[in-house]
Amino acid sequence: MTQRDFVNGATVTLAGFPTDSNSSFVRGPAKAPSRIREQLWSEAGNSFTESGLDLKTPGLLYDAGDALLNEDEHDRAIIESTIGELLDAGTRVVSLGGDHSITYPIVRAYATRFPDLSIVHFDAHPDLYPSFGGNRFSHACPFARILEDTGVTSLVQIGIRTMSAVQKGVAERYGVRVFSPYELDAVIEALPNGPVYVTIDLDGLDPAFAPGVSHREPGGLSVREVLATVRAIPGTVVGADVVELNPDQDTGDMTAGVAAKLAKELVSRMVADARHGERT
Ligand code: MN
Ligand code: MN
Repeated sequence: MTQRDFVNGATVTLAGFPTDSNSSFVRGPAKAPSRIREQLWSEAGNSFTESGLDLKTPGLLYDAGDALLNEDEHDRAIIESTIGELLDAGTRVVSLGGDHSITYPIVRAYATRFPDLSIVHFDAHPDLYPSFGGNRFSHACPFARILEDTGVTSLVQIGIRTMSAVQKGVAERYGVRVFSPYELDAVIEALPNGPVYVTIDLDGLDPAFAPGVSHREPGGLSVREVLATVRAIPGTVVGADVVELNPDQDTGDMTAGVAAKLAKELVSRMVADARHGERT
C-alpha cells in the first residue's frame, strides 16, 4: 500500500484483513471487514462515541481499506508491512479481521516500534497452541508465536474458558496472566502501563451478545464488560484489532454491530491517548 500521503494527519486508521485460511473449523471471517464497516457507518446510529468524540471529525480517522491478501503463506509479510507502513506514517491502527491469525504479524510490526509493548487479549480461547491441525500459524496459535519472537513485555488474557493442558504449559512458561469470566474484578490490577495493544476475539463475548463467530462458547463476557475493562487500562492504547466475526453465523448483523461498536470505542480511546501523550 502507498498510503503515506493519504494518512496525512489522521490520528487513527482502520485497516481490514479479509482472511480465514488459518481458521480451524469453518471459514467465514474473510467476509467480516466490509460488514463491520457497514455497521460502523450505518444510519441506524451516529458517528459520536460514548465520550462525545465525532469519528467524522476531519483528520481524526482514515480508512485504508482492505489489504490485498492471497490466502497463502506470504500474507503474513503483507499484513506486517501494511501495519508497519501505517505506523511509520504516524498513525495508529485499528485492524478489522479476519480470523485471529492476523494478530501475530500485526504485533510483529508493533513490537519493533514499541519496545515495551504489552497485550490485553479478550477471548474464550488462549490461542497458545504450539501448532494446531499441523498449522503453526493457525488462529489457535498466534500468542504462542508472539511470545516466542516478538519480545512483548506482558500478555493478559481475559474471558478464557477453554484452557487445555498443552496451552496451560505455554502460559506458565511465559508468565501469561489468564483470567476467566469469574475473575474480572481481579483483572484490574493486572492491566498494563506503557504502550498497550488490545486484541478482541468476538468469541470472548457471550454468544448471547455475539452469536456470529465460528466457535461459540457460552458463559462469556458482555459488551459492557469488555468496554469497561478496556476503559480501565492504565497504559496508552496504541493499537487494536477486532477479529473472528463470522457473518455466516450471524443473526441480522447483530455481531457485526458489536464489532463496529468495539472498533468505534477503541478508536475513541486511541485518539484520547494520542492526544494526551504517552501515559507511562
Ligand atoms: Mn476464540
Ligand atoms: Mn482467538
